[in-house]
Amino acid sequence: MNYKINELFETIQGEGSFTGQPSIFIRLQGCPVGCSWCDTKHTWDISLDDEVTAETMLTKSEETQHWANFTPEDILALVNDKKFNAKHIVITGGEPCMVDLTPLCELFEQRGYSTQIETSGTFEIITTEKSWVTVSPKVNMRGGYKILNSAMARANEIKHPVATEQHVDDLKALLAEHQVIDTPIYLQPISQKKRATELAIATCIANNWRLSVQVHKYIGIE
Ligand code: SF4
Repeated sequence: MNYKINELFETIQGEGSFTGQPSIFIRLQGCPVGCSWCDTKHTWDISLDDEVTAETMLTKSEETQHWANFTPEDILALVNDKKFNAKHIVITGGEPCMVDLTPLCELFEQRGYSTQIETSGTFEIITTEKSWVTVSPKVNMRGGYKILNSAMARANEIKHPVATEQHVDDLKALLAEHQVIDTPIYLQPISQKKRATELAIATCIANNWRLSVQVHKYIGIE
């Protein structure tokens, strides 16, 4: 099994339940969901012309749509090579659930790492039982994908981007439709906008949900 990796780096997780956790981020290439406010649009297209060597991918100085092909064993070797200290792996994108994540998560879990997947909830989530799954449901986006019941049921946390009342209504409809009861819900203001943040704070208090403010963007790290 090979994975198309756009970026691999060590940082602090800035979102959701693992906020503050040193983490190794593996960003996979490819996403057809089409969110207008997406901040990783360079991960959308998978073009064979954009394949580069591992070294080129790792030394990119700016965000590009270049990716390199890795097996899980290659990734583990790279993480060891780089002497990363973090013991938490975050697989993000793009939309990582376009591929089977089991071999990748299994290998890292066998070596004592915890794994987390960040997904839009529009693809079947194929991974290990132990993986922590963060579903950030992307409703009515340009790609026309539906949120899957199986994804909502598998979620260990739901993290919803909000900027308008409509986003809150969409989330409430989704939670009702998929009968989500006990899963922790995080609201995440889109693009750190003041109005979105105020809306998220008020809605969290009103519904006993949690706030996720993308800490990494406030402290200026990746
Ligand atoms: S699902 Fe994620 S990567 Fe895909 S378009 Fe939406 S925000 Fe961007």
